Amino acid sequence: MARKRTEITGHAFLHRQDGQRSLPLNTGVDLTMDDDGVEWGVLPLVGSREAEPVASESVHVTRYMRRVVDAMERATPRPVRAVPKPVSAKKRPRPAGPPPTAELCPACAGEAFPGCQLCAGVGAVPHERAREWRRRMG
Ligand SMILES: [Zn+2]
Repeated sequence: MARKRTEITGHAFLHRQDGQRSLPLNTGVDLTMDDDGVEWGVLPLVGSREAEPVASESVHVTRYMRRVVDAMERATPRPVRAVPKPVSAKKRPRPAGPPPTAELCPACAGEAFPGCQLCAGVGAVPHERAREWRRRMG
């Protein structure tokens, strides 16, 4: 079964550890896989854009590299796009009422009468003023 040509390009930021020796391996990657084999082009991050090709025509090596690339794909988090939920009419924000520090004017019952002695036509008063008004009115 013929598999199409696969290209992997980008950068690899890896770390090599051989006993006491520790080296960063930061390179550009230009990897191609097809039925003829696999070729991993190693590019320096700076300077030359000439890749050093490391190739194999072995079916086993090519299958192995496909497994590595498939595992990389599985391990890569998929970008999650937030989909705005439709807002039902019930849940739509209601028109702004009195701010939470205030309440409907108890004198005019929030009708905002222009001549209201308590709220002066605003329709809302701070809780404290409403409480005091109720106390005075008994
Ligand atoms: Zn009022």
